[in-house]
Amino acid sequence: MNFQQKYFFDYASGTPINSKIANAMLELGDAGWVNPSAEYAAARVARDVHRQSIDRIAQAIQARPAEIVITSGATESNNMVIKSALNVGHVIVSEIEHPSIIAICKGSNSVSFAPVNKNGLVEVSELKKLIRDNTVLISVMLVNNEIGTVQPLKEIANIVEEIKQDRLKQGNRFPIYIHTDAAQAPYLLSVIPQKLGVDLMTLSSGKIYGPKATGLLYISSKAAKFIKPLMLGGGQQRGMRSGTEDTLSVYGFSLALQKAVLKSKTENRRLESLQKMLLNDLDKLGVDIQINGTTKKRIANNVSVVFRGYDAERLAMELDDLGVSVAIGSACSAANDEPSHVLHAIGLSDQDARSTLRFSFGVDTDKDSIEYAVKSLKAIFARA
Ligand code: PMP
Repeated sequence: MNFQQKYFFDYASGTPINSKIANAMLELGDAGWVNPSAEYAAARVARDVHRQSIDRIAQAIQARPAEIVITSGATESNNMVIKSALNVGHVIVSEIEHPSIIAICKGSNSVSFAPVNKNGLVEVSELKKLIRDNTVLISVMLVNNEIGTVQPLKEIANIVEEIKQDRLKQGNRFPIYIHTDAAQAPYLLSVIPQKLGVDLMTLSSGKIYGPKATGLLYISSKAAKFIKPLMLGGGQQRGMRSGTEDTLSVYGFSLALQKAVLKSKTENRRLESLQKMLLNDLDKLGVDIQINGTTKKRIANNVSVVFRGYDAERLAMELDDLGVSVAIGSACSAANDEPSHVLHAIGLSDQDARSTLRFSFGVDTDKDSIEYAVKSLKAIFARA
């Protein structure tokens, strides 16, 4: 197999577990597996580790422990929010949300889709026009997983503030909340819900070098009444998410999130310069390319590019032969062969969408990784 982590450009689809975190998890011993709800001494230790992990997570995002619900990942967190909201009123989501949001919304006549412009950014003035008297939720992702655009959450929060004031004046007591799927953001951007101006936030451990199939939903105390559990049973996590707590994963997730928050500023600067380098080098390849989404409001680890006239799947296979791993469009929608809804939303033709590769960087990406990827592309284009 040609797989080389240094030439791995698909961190947006998943990150390797940090080896120090993996070791720390192993060292937990029995506390990692015994049921923390039991009554013997080992369970009390597990309970302590679990509680400390939730505290660590809460501290990392400047929230209270009671505002954190641990889930099986971003998909579950997103499902929980949208399903709860659809039981209460009208919902607005951006048209470039992850499938774990879009799939719940499809077919419902209580949902409006907020458009994005050709730069891949939500048009806030258009979103505002969609707000109704019974709109209960606006869900807009912080960073798009396919094209890396960073959405104007602060502007949306300002508009929602205005709407709340208007409702008060009109005697309309209907609540309105903002949710953001921030799965792609930690390690590079701030994920403090209060600073983002959101009431609800989704994170995924498997995108930040923690264990997979773990994530969270942050539910501000204001929004707590409106979120209903998806999983019913033993009443764990204050009844919000039944099922035996996985102390081992929660512990790993807490260490990963703490690290991501600590490293975000320096890692952002480092990856910004690598992103610039790749963008410059792609420009000089001498093939017809187009970068998808704005290069200004964009996360530092994403370059999504159309190689016009080339078949992305074939390019990806040829790169793979040279040890370079990239994504075609989005790995999240890899289960079907439909061209990406995100690339369509920013105005790409089917053909350009099928010529799109996504390079996403992570902790092991360096100058040499970029140089090798560009050299590989050159070799492939020279053969074509
Ligand atoms: N939201 C976004 C923005 C994502 O990138 C992903 C994963 N690609 C998900 C949700 C789903 O995450 P998980 O695998 O943790 O359910």
